[in-house]
Amino acid sequence: MPDAGADPALSVAIRRKAYASRSGPVEAVRDLTFTVQPGETVCLIGPSGAGKTTTLRILLGLDRDYEGTVTPDPDRVRSGMVFQEPRLLPWRSVEENVRLSLPRRERGRSLDALFDELGLAPWRGSYPRELSLGMARRVALARALAIEPRLLVLDEPFVSLDDAAAAGLRGIVFAAARRRGAAVLMVTHNVPEALEVADRLLLLTPRPASLAATVPLATPRPERSRAWADAVRQDLAARFPATVAA
Ligand code: ADP
Ligand code: MG
Repeated sequence: MPDAGADPALSVAIRRKAYASRSGPVEAVRDLTFTVQPGETVCLIGPSGAGKTTTLRILLGLDRDYEGTVTPDPDRVRSGMVFQEPRLLPWRSVEENVRLSLPRRERGRSLDALFDELGLAPWRGSYPRELSLGMARRVALARALAIEPRLLVLDEPFVSLDDAAAAGLRGIVFAAARRRGAAVLMVTHNVPEALEVADRLLLLTPRPASLAATVPLATPRPERSRAWADAVRQDLAARFPATVAA
């Protein structure tokens, strides 16, 4: 559950981010401001090409070429990230891929509990080419969790998986985040998925991304039924048709 009294886990205020292109600057983000509280799960929802990945890269400190501020400074926050592509090193085993994400002095520590938690124990010695996409994403998640993040950033982590694999991975991700009290910021296209897991939705406009609406989800998770989710989605689709498909 979010901890409302504490400092935010993350505070983002991007005034402007533009990419250079032949035909002039392409504005990807403009005046996008939001916070994520410790332990809170926030889903960013926006149309394709809106500027979502751009925003994540900025708040992770991977892109410093923008106008605005991110606090605390990304270098000072333990954040774990999982992108759509697992980005594993192909010539390293699953275990080595996870260990290499750790600071050098921690690389020798036991990862047994983590591999057990994620159902990866039998795959520790395997190589990325031997893994299904779902399993490779689990390894990417293990890599993100190994550093014990305070903030877990997920960029459409369940796309291209079949429903069963997506539901399985989703369960593992959110149980792991909750167990650690980590805040989660997830980009997704999948509104039902967001309605299942989020404390709050941030709806983004088409490019350049800015905030169309903040939607707190007051209904506790155990009471979120299919009928409730359908009603919320239809209401949002009617109010924000450029962001939420009907
Ligand atoms: P989203 O993740 O919401 O689909 P992105 O943040 O990836 O969108 O991209 C936002 C816009 O910025 C798109 O128009 C995309 O083409 C453009 N863009 C993204 N990365 C670059 C880049 N490295 N150079 C130029 N344009 C880019
Ligand atoms: Mg993207």
